[in-house]
Amino acid sequence: MKRNILLHPDPRLKKLCAPVTDMTDELRSLADDMLATMYDAPGIGLAAPQVGVLDRLIVMDCVKEEGEPSRPLIMFNPEVIAASDDLNTYEEGCLSIPDQYADVTRPAEVDVRWIDRDGKEHTETFSKLWATCVQHEIDHLDGKLFIDYLKPLKRQMITRKMTKLKRELARG
Ligand SMILES: [Zn+2]
Repeated sequence: MKRNILLHPDPRLKKLCAPVTDMTDELRSLADDMLATMYDAPGIGLAAPQVGVLDRLIVMDCVKEEGEPSRPLIMFNPEVIAASDDLNTYEEGCLSIPDQYADVTRPAEVDVRWIDRDGKEHTETFSKLWATCVQHEIDHLDGKLFIDYLKPLKRQMITRKMTKLKRELARG
């Protein structure tokens, strides 16, 4: 089931999310809903606070090549446990900040540990787009958006545009 994606600015996008302590069917179906919502958008990553749930859960799939099998990842309590000194700059966007893009520089490679939907622990090294995406999504769990990396003027400009967009959407 598709869920509604919150748009910036929204206080729920600025909150610290709580670790998941018990795996439940409700959380599993939330993860499935988030994947459906992400693919539908379409996007390559989505964090639970973006659908209004303040739990440490992200989903992503950065496979973009035509014909390559998709790789949906569901990550509970994802954590960067090591980051490379090498940096990488990508033009980032966010489903909560539609049509706004900006370059963000982050570690080029990160080791991430997480719990899957069956409660099993995984650790994997991510690079390239996957590394950027997983860091962007984990940031959401700490109430941080990609625009928080930008200079204040640029951030304010984007926030003003978004406030205007939300007002227009509310008017219908
Ligand atoms: Zn985002």
